[in-house]
Amino acid sequence: MSEFKRPASEAAFSENFSQIKPLMSQTEAYYESSRCLFCYDAPCIKACPTGIDIPLFIRQINSKNELGAAKTIYNSNYFGYACGKVCPTSELCEGACVYTNTDVKPIEIGRLQSFATGKAISSNKKFYAIPKSNGMKVAVIGAGPAGISCACELRQDGFEVDIFEAKENPSGLTVHGVAPYKITNEEALDEMEYLQKQFGYTVHYSKTIDSGNDIRLLEENYAAIFIGIGLGGTSDLKIKGEELENVFGAVEFVQHLRMNHHKIVVPEKVIVLGGGNTAMDAASESARMGASEVILAYRRSKEEKPAYEFEYDLAKEVGVKGIFNVAPMEILGKDGKVAGVKFIRTETINGKPSSIEGSEFIEDCDWVIKATGQSKQIGFLERIEGIQLNANGTIAVNDHFQTSNKKYFAAGDAVSGGEEVVNAVANGTNAAIAIKNYLGVRIP
Ligand SMILES: Cc1cc2nc3c(=O)[nH]c(=O)nc-3n(C[C@H](O)[C@H](O)[C@H](O)COP(=O)(O)OP(=O)(O)OC[C@H]3O[C@@H](n4cnc5c(N)ncnc54)[C@H](O)[C@@H]3O)c2cc1C
Ligand code: SF4
Repeated sequence: MSEFKRPASEAAFSENFSQIKPLMSQTEAYYESSRCLFCYDAPCIKACPTGIDIPLFIRQINSKNELGAAKTIYNSNYFGYACGKVCPTSELCEGACVYTNTDVKPIEIGRLQSFATGKAISSNKKFYAIPKSNGMKVAVIGAGPAGISCACELRQDGFEVDIFEAKENPSGLTVHGVAPYKITNEEALDEMEYLQKQFGYTVHYSKTIDSGNDIRLLEENYAAIFIGIGLGGTSDLKIKGEELENVFGAVEFVQHLRMNHHKIVVPEKVIVLGGGNTAMDAASESARMGASEVILAYRRSKEEKPAYEFEYDLAKEVGVKGIFNVAPMEILGKDGKVAGVKFIRTETINGKPSSIEGSEFIEDCDWVIKATGQSKQIGFLERIEGIQLNANGTIAVNDHFQTSNKKYFAAGDAVSGGEEVVNAVANGTNAAIAIKNYLGVRIP
């Protein structure tokens, strides 16, 4: 049972969604940084997709050089602040920290990272001198972690960059998807403002690139085009009852929540269908919004769920109940609204869930949230001549993030099919380096 009251104000919402990685005080940062062993050949660096020199920035924090530490971080990762808060650090840098082999808690690398970069953002410290225009223009489609990182990197060599973003604000799923107890909207958008002021790219908001004409105009006016459009909406389950009122996609629910906070009213009983990280987020968030009962239903066993264990633990801590080896057969309705879900029990045979005959049961509920993966933006991508897609609808790229149409580069979820913010940042940055090479700008 969830113990959260429905938040009726912004203050109550913030309380229910208090930060799981709150910012460190100066004393905490000093103490925590003093524990680092500054390992030779540090495993934490290797575990970070952006390869931040972690022992160096921790040493800089320890010698009270926080801005120097922030520069070390931003040199490798343009989303330094956000990644400190949203990265699954226990699976990446902190999971690799040498202390994990002992009984001692690993260094809190993520919180130290946000501590240092937070100082740079709040003091608006500029680290990079952007050179004069080199006369070449690059278009970026999508202002998510991949697109923004690509733009920052290109600006460092004097490229003019125009970003076209469908939504009204930047950062992609960092502000529209990630759970609000990991990062607040204000924090995510402050870092975006900081980057834009420093790197001086232009963002055209509420501008979806969609039609053949949009694509033609970009091709005529820009030397190269980067695609960082992420994924699409929640995929359909293709079962009866999906069209009922009060059946939502997890991505849509989470986005609505991030934008509207306490104005959303979540009912008494919610069933979340899925076993991935997004399912865990949607369930946790429903509980924190005051639903008294939240059930997470997954068609395979607990051990087979794709979500990280810490994400499941976060959901359980707020009262979410997991039921495993159950597959939804039909969403049941009454007067056009959801009334429950008809499930059948499953067992895993040769790696595949198989239904157990005669084991059907009904679980009543007021809402169903489908966390059944995100679709791909195939319709749009097929409008671009010569771009090949993989069988699963992701964009096919070579080792340099170049697509089969040489003018186009791509990275982030649209290529990977869905990873983490830090991967989109790393790959968006590397794609920019490849664009520089393609356009003949020498990389030092
Ligand atoms: C619910 C949820 C929770 C998550 N939680 C975490 C987490 O805790 N930690 C973590 O590290 N990762 C998390 N992720 C994953 C992470 O958010 C993504 O891997 C990352 O944001 C991908 O970056 P991107 O730039 O490729 O795409 P996105 O962040 O999706 O950004 C794409 C941008 O392109 C825009 N766009 C799309 N199509 C067009 C178009 N045609 N024209 C113009 N603009 C367009 C979109 O509006 C969007 O702003 C989560 C994902 C989801 C769905
Ligand atoms: S592995 Fe741990 S102790 Fe070693 S440098 Fe990295 S953070 Fe410090």
